Amino acid sequence: MISAPSGAGKTTLCNALRQKPDFVWSVSCTTRAPRSGEIDGEDYHFLSKEDFARRLDAGEFLEHAEVHGNRYGTLKASVLENLRNGIDVLLDIDTAGAEKIRACGDSLIMEALADVFIVLPDLGELRRRLIRRGTESNEQVEMRLRNAEREMECWRDYRYTIISGSMEENIEKFRAVMRAERYLSRRMTAVELSRRAE
Ligand code: 5GP
Repeated sequence: MISAPSGAGKTTLCNALRQKPDFVWSVSCTTRAPRSGEIDGEDYHFLSKEDFARRLDAGEFLEHAEVHGNRYGTLKASVLENLRNGIDVLLDIDTAGAEKIRACGDSLIMEALADVFIVLPDLGELRRRLIRRGTESNEQVEMRLRNAEREMECWRDYRYTIISGSMEENIEKFRAVMRAERYLSRRMTAVELSRRAE
């Protein structure tokens, strides 16, 4: 599970991780409009407000949160199915959603959970990155910066914190975390032990 204030390089990192087949990317639902280049069903399931509410009522979300004025939610069924099959799932989630995942009480998820927070060295850099990205209006940039300041406080809640550098550095740091996580004794099943010994 990865959280970061928007503009900290998380999407770039997640997109790079998605190029390799060792994670399944959890495609979230959102009521936000697609940005140019985003594909429905790959980047997000883009839903109307009504559709989102209907799925929420049907209990389809593991967690959901309102972020920057839009609703976002993680689909329960696909996360659990992948974990049951021993496949790692990558969640990109805001800090409120992350708290809900930590408190969800599902033993499979608790066992699998590794949470990583990405911080930027300073907010001035975040402002520059958001303006350079050019996907939000001035008002939205200001809202994302205010939220970033609040979200930055949460870094201690995460097992790992990565200080954002270049994309290559971030990928390397994240892969180091995943390597360590995969060697945790408690993650080893008998099947994995015999596979690794081969
Ligand atoms: P963006 O609109 O820039 O794609 O994402 C905005 C924020 O929503 C990011 O902080 C991202 O982590 C968060 N987000 C994306 N998907 C989910 C989700 O399924 N649940 C929650 N709680 N947050 C999400």
